[in-house]
Amino acid sequence: MGLGVGLTVLRQGVVLGSTAMRRRLLVSLEINNKDRAYEWFLAWMAHQTAHVPKSNSLFGLRSHQLSVETQVEQRKNGSSSALFKLVAGPGIHWFKYRGAWMQVRRERETRSMQLMSGTPWETVTLTTLSRDRSLFPALLSEARDLAMHGQEGKLVIHTAWGIDWRPFGQPRQKRPLQSVVLTPGVTQRIEDDVKSFLNRRQWYADRGIPYRRGYLLHGPPGSGKTSFIQALAGSLSYDICLLNLSERGLADDKLIHLLSNAPERSFVLIEDVDAAFNKRVQSSEDGYQSSVTFSGFLNALDGVASGEERIIFMTTNHLEKLDPALIRPGRVDMMELIDDASPAQARTLFTRFYEEDGLGRPELEKLATALEEIVVKEMALGRRISMATLQGLFIRNGAREAVDACRNLFVAR
Ligand code: ADP
Repeated sequence: MGLGVGLTVLRQGVVLGSTAMRRRLLVSLEINNKDRAYEWFLAWMAHQTAHVPKSNSLFGLRSHQLSVETQVEQRKNGSSSALFKLVAGPGIHWFKYRGAWMQVRRERETRSMQLMSGTPWETVTLTTLSRDRSLFPALLSEARDLAMHGQEGKLVIHTAWGIDWRPFGQPRQKRPLQSVVLTPGVTQRIEDDVKSFLNRRQWYADRGIPYRRGYLLHGPPGSGKTSFIQALAGSLSYDICLLNLSERGLADDKLIHLLSNAPERSFVLIEDVDAAFNKRVQSSEDGYQSSVTFSGFLNALDGVASGEERIIFMTTNHLEKLDPALIRPGRVDMMELIDDASPAQARTLFTRFYEEDGLGRPELEKLATALEEIVVKEMALGRRISMATLQGLFIRNGAREAVDACRNLFVAR
């Protein structure tokens, strides 16, 4: 009996002792998935596993439980691409950072969900020895810098995840604004309008007008609407928030939330606005019906008046299909036609493509004029060609062949 009592006391002692030791010697840091550092930290961990060789004595991460984060981009031509990121899954992981061992415990709360987004609550808890607590800030800023570094000088595209915006895929190379060749004056007009809007925050505030502006670019497909908006965002160091109104699970209340919570310095881009509402009920191939209603959409555009800046770009190939209620000022403040190639646009695009091909100026000018004349002649007959088609011809052919190919293309029609 004495032995039994002794062992029990000993066990209690060990438990108490180890708890006390842990309290004194260990320090923990909790990051939950509401915090931006959460994404940064997981990405940083994934980056370490992928890029730092296991032999590196400073850092070794041994994860046997991984989870995958997949991002799918659905483009409007129907193609899509998926990107996989392997991150530490729920469970316990160990790694060594600057000579200190750290334990990472990723936990998922399955019983309750975040109210609006429906994603489960998650936390990662980092634990290390008390003496190494100064490493936490260093580690977090490394994770932040890694996240930010990839974005510097790049265009970041966000997509909706539930009711939150999250960066989609890798940040992209910016496209120079001049590389999108529009009718002379259009680029300047839109750029000036956006800039003057951005300079008038106080003006709006003084008059109690919601600080927002809407743009609608309309015209045939392949004329550069999307490319222009992305290039403009890039030139102003803005991000793009891509909103797909027919997305599964998007409903009026979520839409309002998304539109009023877009990340700072970003354009909200809604492509093909006509497509979302042109049928009474939009349904996809599997019969799923989009639950954003037209009136819900208008409400979301009008939103609650707030001081937050909001810039929305919409595109459509069919202006005539849009409800007049959508195009009234306050919802759409500026509307521009982005049309098929005009003779001057064809010429500029041609020169841009071939000016470094060593043709010589006179030859280049001669060919450019020939191309321009083809386009003039065909326009007189009521035939147009899109800038995207021209671009395609220029990518595939040398300068002379491209002019011939363009001529043949019209003949073939
Ligand atoms: P839209 O949004 O009008 O359908 P996109 O911007 O998607 O057209 O353009 C499709 C492709 O055609 C892109 O690769 C783009 O580079 C090219 N393109 C279209 N219009 C232009 C233009 N005006 N100037 C330069 N390239 C263009």
